[in-house]
Amino acid sequence: MAEEEKKAAPVNFIRQIIDADLASGKVDHVVTRFPPEPNGYLHIGHAKSICLNFGIAQDYHGKCNLRFDDTNPAKEGQEYVDSIKRDVEWLGFKWDGEPHFSSDYFDRLYGFAIELINKGLAYVDELSPDEIREYRGTLTEPGKNSPYRDRSVEENLALFEKMKNGEFAEGKACLRAKIDMASSFMCMRDPVIYRIKFAEHHRTGKKWCIYPMYDFTHCLSDAIEGITHSICTLEFQDNRRLYDWVIEHVSAPSQPHQYEFSRLNLEYCLTSKRKLNLLVTNGIVDGWDDPRLATISGMRRRGFTPAAIREFCRRIGVTKQDNTVEISALETCVRDDLNEHAKRAMAVLHPLRLIIDNYESEGEEISAPNHPQKPEMGERKLPFGRELFIEQDDFRESANKQYKRLVLGKAVRLRYAYAVVADSCEKNEAGEITAVHCHYFPESLGKDPEGVKVRGVIHWVSAEGSEEAEVRLFDRLFTVPDPGSAEDFLSVVNKDSVTVIPGARIEKSLGSAVPGEAYQFERTGYFCADSKLSKPGHPVFNQTVALKDTVKKAVSA
Ligand code: ATP
Ligand code: MG
Repeated sequence: MAEEEKKAAPVNFIRQIIDADLASGKVDHVVTRFPPEPNGYLHIGHAKSICLNFGIAQDYHGKCNLRFDDTNPAKEGQEYVDSIKRDVEWLGFKWDGEPHFSSDYFDRLYGFAIELINKGLAYVDELSPDEIREYRGTLTEPGKNSPYRDRSVEENLALFEKMKNGEFAEGKACLRAKIDMASSFMCMRDPVIYRIKFAEHHRTGKKWCIYPMYDFTHCLSDAIEGITHSICTLEFQDNRRLYDWVIEHVSAPSQPHQYEFSRLNLEYCLTSKRKLNLLVTNGIVDGWDDPRLATISGMRRRGFTPAAIREFCRRIGVTKQDNTVEISALETCVRDDLNEHAKRAMAVLHPLRLIIDNYESEGEEISAPNHPQKPEMGERKLPFGRELFIEQDDFRESANKQYKRLVLGKAVRLRYAYAVVADSCEKNEAGEITAVHCHYFPESLGKDPEGVKVRGVIHWVSAEGSEEAEVRLFDRLFTVPDPGSAEDFLSVVNKDSVTVIPGARIEKSLGSAVPGEAYQFERTGYFCADSKLSKPGHPVFNQTVALKDTVKKAVSA
């Protein structure tokens, strides 16, 4: 991570709380955690949480744990664990020690449940899940006590043991905390803390058929790991009562506290693993890393950089206000970073042959800087020749003065190379232009030919010094800004979100570009080779983000 990035520590209400806690002596060190459930790949919302938790640990010289909250064996798996580790590292963060797993604490959590039973604070309920829901009451009506609520400690211990030994079927019994069925916080109405599930767990195998619920697991995992500030999103605000209740009523090894901030919502994107999973399993996208998804792996495949994503998270800040961020805010960060760091290259997306009739040299190479403002990034040699490719868009038989490109009888400069004047063009039977003939000015390298007005600069590649590539342009995956709240989000998928351009021409050296490595195709946009589709002899490039319109004008003027 760059030094200047480290220095610009953001200010937000959570950091203010930490400052106050350190000042008052409530804590003398800071430990945070990032606690994903391994049931999907991480997305841009998780990036916000990662930057917050790991960022705090860095700036306060504390620690941040990576903890997999793996209490739902049916939906979790090793593929997700691996992808999450990869994504956190790629974003530029390092967790303290080995990754932790809630499942590592199953024995201790079981012990805490026994402790609650022994204190008369938990009971085995045999109401059905439907009855439990019915008994819970509503926001306006208090709940009512289960008939099983007042079982003796001995009976509860024996029944909980039976649950653990698989002597109850799923849904036939559960363990509930005995709190208050009339509480104005629904989560305090005797929440279920253990349920029966005969599912094989990706780490504990068949050892358990009872699994602790999130609200019981999370706070105690925090306590076991000595987390000082447990930061989560606002939907857990009410659950903080339960978090504190559990910590208070068992002999917790430490006293963590929970703080909530608002989730990140990004326009035209989904930030729900469940919904992302549906896009993947319905084959609407090409895996979790489809470049159109705001998953971390999708953004990586598309060519977004970790620095750009971190900068985006810094700019959006951390508050308690619900908000939806425009996609352009993220794209601006990507563009800013790539403008600084991406190598320049030339690629012609829709090639048109340009023949220089008076060109006779052989083996000429033109030097082109890899970055016009950064000589330290070096330069490369571009083979030049009699036959080149230019964009179809960059030639017209006739045009007014606003058109700063090639026109019959007029001159343009070929970027980094010579000025040429178009003389004639060839057409096919359909009347489409298939080639342009021109002549060049041998003395025009680096200076305008005398008495000739050069209208603009266009990009090119030589026929011999280029190879064919597939280029993919992306549009939004959804037709509405808030697909997450659509009744059926699959029905608002944009059917035209990928444009495949099969016959683009790229500088030959790009044929072996490393997937993910960013290039600015001059005048066109930022691109990188696709990690899945690009093969030797068949390069495939993804458009990361377009150049800004204003930039486009400035460059082509
Ligand atoms: P999803 O709905 O995508 O499954 P989640 O909250 O269930 O999200 P977790 O794996 O439990 O996913 O999330 C890990 C951490 O990331 C949690 O602390 C959670 O609060 C945070 N997080 C998840 N989504 C967002 C978001 N959109 N904005 C900010 N933080 C988020
Ligand atoms: Mg969750």
